[in-house]
Amino acid sequence: MDLNTIKENLTFPIEAPQYRVEVDGFMSFANNTLTHDGRLRCPCVKCVNNKLLNPDDVNYHLLQYGIMRNYSTWVFHGESVDQVPTSTSTEPTVEKETLTHMDMRQLVHDAFGHSESISLSKVT
Ligand SMILES: [Zn+2]
Repeated sequence: MDLNTIKENLTFPIEAPQYRVEVDGFMSFANNTLTHDGRLRCPCVKCVNNKLLNPDDVNYHLLQYGIMRNYSTWVFHGESVDQVPTSTSTEPTVEKETLTHMDMRQLVHDAFGHSESISLSKVT
């Protein structure tokens, strides 16, 4: 599950199925940030990352109160803050990669006409 998809689903109201399912996504993501005694910062609207709770309680709070709406970068739950793109970073976005693949497919199609069996895996 992609982190952005998880966050997107967590912007739904807490009674929405998307939200309730994705609380699990958050829990499994945050599972890497348990303290040595197995607790987790609770990002619910009441605790606002100020309390360390058992994962079960965090799960309960997220379902009961909802996650902080402005907690967009999960710095307390394992998300690196170093991933902000810099001016030297030329890493393409997912959208650009998808577009490139589509262009390649079209190119192959144009070049070989009806040869649909050409392996796109050769086109990298
Ligand atoms: Zn809480």
